[in-house]
Amino acid sequence: MSEKAMLLSGWADEAGVITAVCHARPDGDAAGCVTAVVSYLRECRGKDAVMILPESVPETLGFVFGGNTPLTASSEPQAARDRLARTDLLICLDFNTFSRTEGLEDALRSCPGRKVLIDHHEAPDIQSFDLCFSDTQVSSACELLYRLLLEMPDIRGDASRLPALAAAALMTGMTTDTNNFANSVFPGTLQMASELLAAGVDRKAIIDHLYFCERPNRLAAQGEMLSQRMKLLPCGAAVTVLRKDFFERHALLDGETEGFVNLPLTVAQVRLSILAREEDGRFRVSVRSKAGVSARELATGFLHGGGHEQASGGKILIPEDVPSPADAEAWLESVTARFMREKYSVQ
Ligand code: 5GP
Ligand code: MN
Repeated sequence: MSEKAMLLSGWADEAGVITAVCHARPDGDAAGCVTAVVSYLRECRGKDAVMILPESVPETLGFVFGGNTPLTASSEPQAARDRLARTDLLICLDFNTFSRTEGLEDALRSCPGRKVLIDHHEAPDIQSFDLCFSDTQVSSACELLYRLLLEMPDIRGDASRLPALAAAALMTGMTTDTNNFANSVFPGTLQMASELLAAGVDRKAIIDHLYFCERPNRLAAQGEMLSQRMKLLPCGAAVTVLRKDFFERHALLDGETEGFVNLPLTVAQVRLSILAREEDGRFRVSVRSKAGVSARELATGFLHGGGHEQASGGKILIPEDVPSPADAEAWLESVTARFMREKYSVQ
């Protein structure tokens, strides 16, 4: 057992109230790792452990929580604040700075308990935490947490000792963050998958939930996006802007455009895909790239965001970046073309 894992284990023993938290707009990795750590702490250590999500997850991801209901700060802000104010041990997962939790940032910073970070993004804000487990050479926060849980004295390297819910949640988060083993797969990722499978995780059920439970609306929206909204630029980038009317026309639910940004990358000459979704007063932007082009540099340099080398995100602000939503597409195309020209010398 590493010294850091021992320290964390001791802090868990000492803590009365433990809270796990992830980033805003939680994805499969975020929801998976908060579920797994809370399930482990409750079932194996008998702790009072609760997960707080800054916002709810898309309906299709709800299965990951099993019987455990998270406390969602956007719908129960006071309950979330009260819990954080009496938390002895705060476990922060799948984000590198408190600002990624958006509305929860202040409450997290002022939490009186010890603060632990378990994350796989670059440049963690280590000053804000008492203990950091940070590694970018893993598929997901779930993979990093899996390694850490295996070190715990009651698990002792045997994945079959993990609660079934924790094991399934870890498999889920790893699966979504790798886009089902398409990106960020390391030897340890496959080892984790193998061990969890051997421990009895029902991977088929997870895949069914994640990829075979869509509504037809999503498919129709994908058709419109690919045939009418996506612009292939000569510089090897694809730019897609989805305005509010698009979401209304297809009656899309929260999170139903998840994965759309990956589609343009199936085209050979596309090395960078940017997808902007209109919200009130801004656009949320997802950026994905093939090796050799940095999604992160585009997100950091132009979109008030960041993330991983090949998968990043950010925002287009109105009126700071563009005077009105109607101007977003032209602006994004010109910023992207400039980025590709200046950074990679392509016209
Ligand atoms: P997605 O496109 O799936 O929303 O985000 C992909 C990745 O980009 C996330 O896992 C996260 O690392 C990063 N990311 C997304 N949005 C933001 C943002 O607003 N700020 C920063 N710093 N990173 C972001
Ligand atoms: Mn992640």
